[in-house]
Amino acid sequence: MNLLNFVSQFPDEDSCKAKWKEYRDKQGVVCPKCGGKEHYWKSDKDSYECKKCNYRQSLRSNTVMHGSQLPFRYWFIAIHLLTSTKKSFSACELQRQLGHSTYNPIWAMLHKLRLAMGKRDAEYSLKEVIELDEAFFSTEIDEEEKDKPLKRGRGSQKKTKVLVMAESIPVDGETTKKGKPRKVGHIKMFVIDDLKASTIEEKVSEHINKDSTIDSDNSTSYTNFNMLVKEHRPKVVPKEELGKMLPWVHIAISNAKRMLLDVFHDIRPEYMQSYLNEFCYKFNRRHFGEKRFDRLMIAGVSYKNKFRYNIK
Ligand SMILES: [Zn+2]
Repeated sequence: MNLLNFVSQFPDEDSCKAKWKEYRDKQGVVCPKCGGKEHYWKSDKDSYECKKCNYRQSLRSNTVMHGSQLPFRYWFIAIHLLTSTKKSFSACELQRQLGHSTYNPIWAMLHKLRLAMGKRDAEYSLKEVIELDEAFFSTEIDEEEKDKPLKRGRGSQKKTKVLVMAESIPVDGETTKKGKPRKVGHIKMFVIDDLKASTIEEKVSEHINKDSTIDSDNSTSYTNFNMLVKEHRPKVVPKEELGKMLPWVHIAISNAKRMLLDVFHDIRPEYMQSYLNEFCYKFNRRHFGEKRFDRLMIAGVSYKNKFRYNIK
């Protein structure tokens, strides 16, 4: 959908409300009190009323818009932009474009949508052959920690640890210096607190199908992978060869870093996952074309917003 189509399809608040209701009805409205699935629509109150227990919930309740005061149209514009732009945009930019007076609600709206993206992607497991590695993303340091001397390298306070996994499916073709050709499928990126085996294993068992094969370096954090998946092929590789052995993971990491660097500055560690959600969600739907708007709308009506401001 281009901008002109968007504007003519959603010219005002009512057209957005009607569309949101259409998506909610299609996904099924559930009563949070009794689990009832049948509702009356109270058009004068923009609310659903449970046929069993008469509990009322608004059109926004129990969706990504739960608790939001912003116009529906703002949400639609954000969903449109998040699904039609190749890279991303900052909350500051969107605030400016909307002409909205305050920054925080716009910033929170984008994070709520990114949370919904993350939840959607968490419903799918990676399968077949998966490349796995860790990456270190630069993040902002707390004010009070700025005076402390920085630890160097991996443990430095300026780096957030991210576990990266990419489906890397062998395809027909000549074997080259880089090995057999592979095609990238879905990817996942998770902020992790540490590089302990137990931390990484938890993510692997949660997000990788048991019948899969994992390719990685021979880090000691990965020694139990063969108990979690069908096959683990750890390889001893010098650092500069990693890009050859795990090509898609490293392409994903460098693209994500570039996107974050271009659009967002000084990301705080606690929000890094949110930006990674957006990056992975978009990457995983890169071939969806026109369907992208529809899919994020479905995710939006499917998950209740649980975003909390957690600025320390
Ligand atoms: Zn009910």
